[in-house]
Amino acid sequence: LPAQISASLETLGIKDQNPGSSTGQNWLNTSAGFFSSLSPVDGNKIAAVQATDKATYEAVIQKAEEAFLTWRKVPAPQRGEFVRKLGNELRVVKADLGRLVSYEMGKSYQEGLGEVQEMIDICDFAVGLSRQLYGLTMHSERPGHRMYEQWHPLGIVGIISAFNFPVAVWSWNAMIAWVCGDVCIWKPSEKAPLSALACQHIVAKVLRESELPEGISCLINGDYKVGEMMTQDFRIPLISATGSTRMGKIVGQAVAARLGRSLLELGGNNAIIITENADLDIAIRGALFGAVGTAGQRCTTTRRLIVQESVYDTVKERLKSAYAKLVIGDPLDEKNHVGPLIDQDAVKAYLSAVEKVKAQGGKELVPAGVLTGPGYESGCYVKPCIIEAENHFEMVQHETFAPILYLNKYRTLDEAIAMHNGVPQGLSSAIMTLNMREAEAFLSAAGSDCGIANVNIGTSGAEIGGAFGGEKETGGGRESGSDSWKAYMRRQTNTINYSTALPLAQGIRFEI
Ligand code: NAD
Repeated sequence: LPAQISASLETLGIKDQNPGSSTGQNWLNTSAGFFSSLSPVDGNKIAAVQATDKATYEAVIQKAEEAFLTWRKVPAPQRGEFVRKLGNELRVVKADLGRLVSYEMGKSYQEGLGEVQEMIDICDFAVGLSRQLYGLTMHSERPGHRMYEQWHPLGIVGIISAFNFPVAVWSWNAMIAWVCGDVCIWKPSEKAPLSALACQHIVAKVLRESELPEGISCLINGDYKVGEMMTQDFRIPLISATGSTRMGKIVGQAVAARLGRSLLELGGNNAIIITENADLDIAIRGALFGAVGTAGQRCTTTRRLIVQESVYDTVKERLKSAYAKLVIGDPLDEKNHVGPLIDQDAVKAYLSAVEKVKAQGGKELVPAGVLTGPGYESGCYVKPCIIEAENHFEMVQHETFAPILYLNKYRTLDEAIAMHNGVPQGLSSAIMTLNMREAEAFLSAAGSDCGIANVNIGTSGAEIGGAFGGEKETGGGRESGSDSWKAYMRRQTNTINYSTALPLAQGIRFEI
């Protein structure tokens, strides 16, 4: 392994053949064997992690249930204090964790650092939130009565996360769930288990130092079968799952079958509308980062550009020349713009999407291809491509998790909005315009149908302060900021009678 990576692994407590736990205690030792984490950067095996078997899973549930009995009684601001300490610990390891995320997932080092910064930010948000879990008070219709609502912890929150944000998405869930008084069991992506293990080590240290039960933060490892143990388990009232729409449909149904709650954060098919009134410098930069950043592996990646016909050719030419300047290679080397895809299956999916869209009539403006030779030994590096394609083409309707940008032309804004909304997904969206009427129309009830709608900003790179998530096949869940915390608590309505009578609601009379 590269020397810097080995040093970061050591700091983060990752070795080869990692037990699936942070604590090193027996309750997480399993008989399910080990699986390896491979880096898409150079194809190296980074380390192996123990998978979770059924018996271990039962032990984890027991630890989590026990911990909940204590944790739910800790006052919320004190729970916030634990999260504050976690944020401080993350500040200390930011560079090492960012580097591991970059090496294990393949995103640039800057983005790896950004992901850890996002974790720190959500810690700060959660600390403040721990004093603001507000309920409403209502005026009772009965004399001498008072009504109000309280928000109580739910119990165990099961977090299933995707490979592309291997640590930030967990923190959006866990930090909020913890101040809400819940305990968490995390099943990270089997493609990025080490970044998760590193986080679990950090949390376990803070729990130990704070003399809090270790079951407040639990980690289980393995593929979808390990995730299924949680989705089918009635002891887990909330499953928060991030990943593909295909996964969300299965998970959503499994949780609904036991009348549990699910919070789904699924695929996007995000578009930017570029109008004739756009600042084209901003539009091109926004589209470029949105389409090729993280090698097109963000749920908010810009996948479609919908461009007004009068500026279409200019946008096309400027994008082509910007793409020609992209440097593809090792994401840890800061001179490179685009890193690898997560694995060779993702490369196959990219090539197959390009072939399919071309077979339907798509025209390659910036050609696709796989890079070979020195520096590309992992076989995971692909060329970001641009394809002129119609919105209704099968592949344009589908999220391919790779840097493929589809270009569409429009005449009127109504036509552009219809095209924009004319896909099954509804995560992030943007309009580039300096015209107030166009911007407001896009943000209106008759405009974008997405959970996120931006003006003069691309589709990717959300801040933690807002609620994050999307509509339609994106799953409808909201995480992170605003009042997303409500999903992690149960609401209780309380009516208190301090009078000497017992009047019934709605004036109903019942006399004996
Ligand atoms: P994926 O669906 O293959 O896997 C995601 C997670 O779900 C993994 O941990 C996996 O093991 C687990 N899983 C899969 N099937 C399961 C099942 N039947 N039961 C329980 N768990 C199961 O997704 P991926 O390839 O890791 O990530 C890419 C996808 O995630 C893209 O579609 C992307 O748009 C989406 N994503 C969405 C958001 C969002 O907030 N909306 C954020 C990040 C990624």
